[in-house]
This record gives sequence, C-alpha cells and structure tokens, in this order.
Amino acid sequence: MKIRYWGVRGSVPVPGPSTVKYGGNTSCVSVEVDDTVLIFDSGTGIRECGNYLMSLGKKINGKIFISHTHWDHIQGFPFFVPAYVPGNTFEIFGPPSDVQNLSLEQIMAMQTNYEYFPIRISQLGADITYNDCREGTVNVNGFEISTCRLNHPVACLAYRLNHDGKTFIYGGDHEPYRNVYRDSKEGESMDEDFLKELDENAYMQNNKIAGFCRKADIVSWDAQYNEEEYKSKRGWGHSTYEANIAMAQNAKIKKIIFSHHEPMNSDEKLAQREQQCKEIARQKDFELEFSREGMEIDL
Ligand SMILES: [Zn+2]
Ligand SMILES: [Zn+2]
Repeated sequence: MKIRYWGVRGSVPVPGPSTVKYGGNTSCVSVEVDDTVLIFDSGTGIRECGNYLMSLGKKINGKIFISHTHWDHIQGFPFFVPAYVPGNTFEIFGPPSDVQNLSLEQIMAMQTNYEYFPIRISQLGADITYNDCREGTVNVNGFEISTCRLNHPVACLAYRLNHDGKTFIYGGDHEPYRNVYRDSKEGESMDEDFLKELDENAYMQNNKIAGFCRKADIVSWDAQYNEEEYKSKRGWGHSTYEANIAMAQNAKIKKIIFSHHEPMNSDEKLAQREQQCKEIARQKDFELEFSREGMEIDL
C-alpha cells in the first residue's frame, strides 16, 4: 500500500512561512492499494488529494473514512473536485451523532447549508453514499477495516486496515483516558475505593486502545502537545508525545507517526521536537516520525 499525507495540522489550517516544511492543511491521509483509494479524513488536505486523483485521468471509486466530524476533519470535502464528477463513486464512512440523533450524511450536509456554501452536498455529481459507522469491522472491497472508539469530545474512531499481512492504523483525535476526579477539588470528598475504581476503568480503556494498535506496522496518531502544553489543555481531546511514546512501546508498534500538529507550532519547533522524540524511540527500539504534508510511505 502507498500512504500519502495531504494534511497533518490539527484544529485549523495555518498556511504561512513558518509552516512550509510540515504543512498547514488539516487532516487527510490517502492509502492506495492497486486501483482502490482509501482516504482518511477530509480536512483541507483533501483538496490537494482530489487534484492528484483528477490528474490520474481515471474514474475514481473511493472510500472515505471520517474519524469524526469536527471542522478540521471535514472542512475540505466541499473542495474535493472528484466528488463533483459524474461517474466517480464514493462511499463515506464515519460516526453519526448519537447525542443529536444525526446521521453522518446529515452532519456532512450541514456544512454546505445555504448560509455557509454556494452548492448543496446533494448536488455533487459523483455517486456518493454514506454509512454510519460505530465500533466493529467493515468489509470494503476485500479490505477488512476495524474501528475503535477514541476519547474525544464527540464520537471519534480509529481505523485499522489490514492488507497483505501489513497493518496501517489511522487514529482520529484522542486524549488518553484518565480519572478526571483524581487530584481534583471534587475528588477530595470522594471515597478512595471509588477513585481506585475510576483509575482502573481509565487504565482498562487505555489498554483496549493499545490492544487495538498492537504490533501494527504503522500507527498514525494524534500528537498535538508536549506535557507542558497539555497542562492547560486537559479535556480538549488530544494526546501528548510522551503518552504516545509509552503507548507505542506497550503496544509493540513498529512505527508511530505523530500527526495533528498543534497550529501554534512552527517548523522550527516541530523539527526540534521530532529529533528529540526520534532519539527516545530509537533507544526504545521502535520507529517514530512526524507527519509532513507530501510525505509518502510504501508499506
Ligand atoms: Zn482535529
Ligand atoms: Zn476533534
């Protein structure tokens, strides 16, 4: 499989002179296997992915897997040119909103409401179908893709793609589970046994995710912050380099790719951190890399 990164930034696109090396577009990764193209997330990076697919001059039969429907993961879809071309077909998978009782299709359509965009999603020329996706396994064109629920302030999935003995995991936004009452004001009046139960629960949830990633060849994962930045951003739904390094080691991941970079962080800062993280990974015997727009990997 050929993996290409089209958008690696978290939260908001940040084009400009300080983001040239790693890139300013938001989340989008494509995986090509023979004639099938699988796209993970449709942040602003999907625009350039679409231009690339158009340049191949072929009918496109694509599958798009949305991790979750926050802006930075869907905002590029209305600018994805292949979706406008009759004869192309796309199947879109992603979590619905059980809280608001909205299907994936309804949520995707809302961003092209009359007030926000000149064309309705229902007017796109390609044949597009939507599939609400929860935890489980999806079979797509002979690919087995399993999903795992992540910890984020909206339903969010990681996708595990197995093909030809190789495993690629695309994780959406995720913050490791923790007992939110431990070391908090509210927790002070709570029974220690109950707190221990909550500790255990968080531990089990994190273990489940490590199990999902176990022995994967490549895991592409949210790594927005370092520990220092995380202190003021707890509960925002993102991971730290440190937590991911621990997970990669526990889950015996062969290579972890840190992505969803914090928009405030410049090329210079990310390059420095990438060197530090790579060195730690080297000592712990796994590979680590920061994602960059335009990066290509053969797996
Ligand atoms: Zn995000
Ligand atoms: Zn998000």
